[in-house]
Amino acid sequence: MVRERRCKKCHDLIQIRPQNPNQKYCSKRECQRARKAQWQRNKLKNDKAYRDNQREAGRKWRERNPDYWRNYRKRNPDYVRHNRLQQRVRNHRKRRRDDASILIAKMDASNPKKYIRSGCYELVPIGAEVANMDASIVEINVLSGGYG
Ligand SMILES: [Zn+2]
Repeated sequence: MVRERRCKKCHDLIQIRPQNPNQKYCSKRECQRARKAQWQRNKLKNDKAYRDNQREAGRKWRERNPDYWRNYRKRNPDYVRHNRLQQRVRNHRKRRRDDASILIAKMDASNPKKYIRSGCYELVPIGAEVANMDASIVEINVLSGGYG
C-alpha cells in the first residue's frame, strides 16, 4: 500500500517513500522553500549558537551593504506604506493599553465604585491580530456608581 499525505504548503498529495517517512512537503520549489524557512524558524527558536551565529552574520552583511535597506525602501513604496500602517496600528494599540492602565490605576484609588464613565468604547478581542482589527464600538451607560 502506498502511503500518502498532504503537503504542508500547497496541500497536494505526496507519496511517502520508506526512505523519507517523515516527509511533510512536496518537491515543488516554493514548498521546499517553505520547508527550509520553517526549519530555520525552528532552529532560531531553539538553538542559541545558531541564533548568535546568524545575528553576527547579519551584522557583518549590513556592514558590507549599508545602503541596502534604504535602496530597498526607495524601490518598494508599497512595502514602506504597509509598514507605516502596521506601525500606526501598533501605536494606536499601545496608546489604548496605556489608557487602560490609567483606568486600572484609577480603580485602585479611594472610591472603587467610580471607575467607568458612560460613553462609547472600542471593544477589541484580546489577542486580535494587528492585520485584522476586529473592533466593535460599544456604548456603556453607567446606571449607578460611576462618575459620568
Ligand atoms: Zn507542496
